[in-house]
Formats: sequence, C-alpha cells, structure tokens
Amino acid sequence: MTLSDNPFKELTWVDLMLWTNKRTVAAGKTFFQTKKVRQLAMTRTGGILAWVDAEEPFATRVEYNEGDLIAECTCQPLGNACIHAIAVIIEYIAHLKKQLDVPVAPPNDERFYLL
Ligand SMILES: [Zn+2]
Repeated sequence: MTLSDNPFKELTWVDLMLWTNKRTVAAGKTFFQTKKVRQLAMTRTGGILAWVDAEEPFATRVEYNEGDLIAECTCQPLGNACIHAIAVIIEYIAHLKKQLDVPVAPPNDERFYLL
C-alpha cells in the first residue's frame, strides 16, 4: 500500500468527532499526547494495532472496511469506538506525518488473540 491510497491519511478531526463524539476525541488526543500508545503495528489488511496504557493495558485495532472505520478494543466499547481507538489513530497519523515506519504485526501477535 502506498501512502497516497492510505485512507487514514485523509482523516480529519471532524471525521473522528462524527465517528465518536467531541469528548472521546479530546480524551483520545490526551492519551496520544501523554504517550499512552505503544507498539503501534500494521495489520496485513492495512489496519492498525496498538497497546494503549489506560487504567490497564488495552489492545486496540482499527480497520477500514468498505470505507467505514471499524474499531475493536479489549475495553469492550459501547459505541462505534473508544478513546483508545482514537488515540491509536492519532498516533498512526503522527507516524505518517513524520514518515516513520510502522512494522507489520506478525500473525502470532498476542493482540490478535485478545481481540
Ligand atoms: Zn478501548
């Protein structure tokens, strides 16, 4: 996948707010800024995967499916997505902007089993 056809690159704050809500986006941004996201990785389907250190470490995965953002998180979110998913997306976009490499998660990554 090249950077130009990466849908995450096109995401805006408004998109994230429409996907969740203002409060969730603000809280996710704080998690990103306080460096709670670690071991960011790509999935083989172009999604992203990370740990987010909140009250406990949560495994979070975000994928695009036919143009829709789909999040999974071990915090078992009630709505579309949680603060952790937002934090992971922001972390990933920051990596893209800085042109930092994001490794592909191996198939036996424990987070795949948790989610
Ligand atoms: Zn979560």
